[in-house]
Amino acid sequence: MLDKLKDECGVFGIYDKDGHDVALLSYFALYALQHRGQESAGIAVSEGQDIIYHKNVGLVPEVFTEGDLEKLKTGNIGIGHVRHSVKGGNLPQNTQPLVTKYKKGSMAFAHNGALINASTLREKLEEGGAIFQTTTDSEVMANLIARFSDNGFENALEKMVQNIKGSYALTIMTEDKLVGIRDPHGIRPLALGKLGNSYVLASETCAFDAIGAEYIRDVRPGEIIVISNEGLTSIQTPVPLQSCFCIFEFIYFARTDSIIDGISVYTARRDAGRILAMENPVDADMVVGVPDSGTTAALGYAEESGIPYREGLIRNRYVGRTFIKPTQAIREQSVRIKLNALERIVKGKRIVLVDDSIVRGTTSKAIVELLRLAGAKEIHMRISSPPIKYPCYFGIDTPDRDELIGAQSTVEEICENIGADSLSYLSVDGLLKTVESSGCSFCLGCFNRQYPMECE
Ligand code: SF4
Repeated sequence: MLDKLKDECGVFGIYDKDGHDVALLSYFALYALQHRGQESAGIAVSEGQDIIYHKNVGLVPEVFTEGDLEKLKTGNIGIGHVRHSVKGGNLPQNTQPLVTKYKKGSMAFAHNGALINASTLREKLEEGGAIFQTTTDSEVMANLIARFSDNGFENALEKMVQNIKGSYALTIMTEDKLVGIRDPHGIRPLALGKLGNSYVLASETCAFDAIGAEYIRDVRPGEIIVISNEGLTSIQTPVPLQSCFCIFEFIYFARTDSIIDGISVYTARRDAGRILAMENPVDADMVVGVPDSGTTAALGYAEESGIPYREGLIRNRYVGRTFIKPTQAIREQSVRIKLNALERIVKGKRIVLVDDSIVRGTTSKAIVELLRLAGAKEIHMRISSPPIKYPCYFGIDTPDRDELIGAQSTVEEICENIGADSLSYLSVDGLLKTVESSGCSFCLGCFNRQYPMECE
């Protein structure tokens, strides 16, 4: 319940040719992707004739028992999903994979992202007689595929891509095919890997590491990958001149050990800390990172500045989800449950406190207070991203603008609000330098309102 932007989902897919237990591998992969969504989890597998599945609300280990996985053992193709709901709400019927039947057979769908034209498409489909069982974008996409399926499945996928707008990294499964699709702007990540002779797809490469698979490459923006018994086919749909990958994946969403579009998330975060130190130096005794999200940038800041890194904050490793409604007071209290200051380290010291972002300011305020109570002499807050000022329309749970402290207050006002001695953010140019070796272009919409497409 820390004050962070929340990613919506993680997806996985496997086409097995080596006799692996597809359900078990999907389970381990979802475990590795758990940080991308904690509200529900699901796995669907194809047995050749039928698609069977198990899904529910809860964390991966809560949703699956050994018996559930045993029942899914017979499949040779599988997809998996972890979800954090925003659009569509946290309803049991909205859990994924969405498994549906249409005139050509069965299909299972796992989606990370958000469509900006889903309601228009849904209305049109409903006018044409379609009936929906969920409020998800995935069901809209599944309906489009069914509607366009007369000229073959691959053709239907291309037509669906032509009709939908927004962000999407998809794994789709039929009885005999596994499909991976990334939207034409490449907003959300999707990587391709191999495990022996079997292909795997995942939102992040940390899922490949968890199952011993090898990362091959990222699915390209606008690319449709179809994997069948004949091997892998790639269909490249038209793309805009520039891609627009979500830069927040590098700042916070992705796991530090993942590689996205050829860039190590760890290296990007460390470089963000280094550049932050160059742009915003301060005289201090130690650099402290807010665990875990600020740790890597704090190490970079320490390296560049020559100020020693110290563990001044300790994280409680055993705090899971809580179902208590996140009011302001509870958010502040939850910081104390999750973090504690090490008095022995911080007492009487001038501290550079590094975190990846400030959303509402409640967490930063509570952490500054914790350090003050532990006797810190000065606290200089440094943020390894620019101020968040605008909402995200592409699958990220952002609070309303009036709750975003970066939209409502100047940096001086935020500094006063959180009770720090000084506050500085990384510049947009500094942030872009951390990812320049990718050769990609990036979405910076939540910082500068320049979104990849018209969406307000
Ligand atoms: S608006 Fe921000 S969070 Fe949303 S896709 Fe763009 S960079 Fe990512």
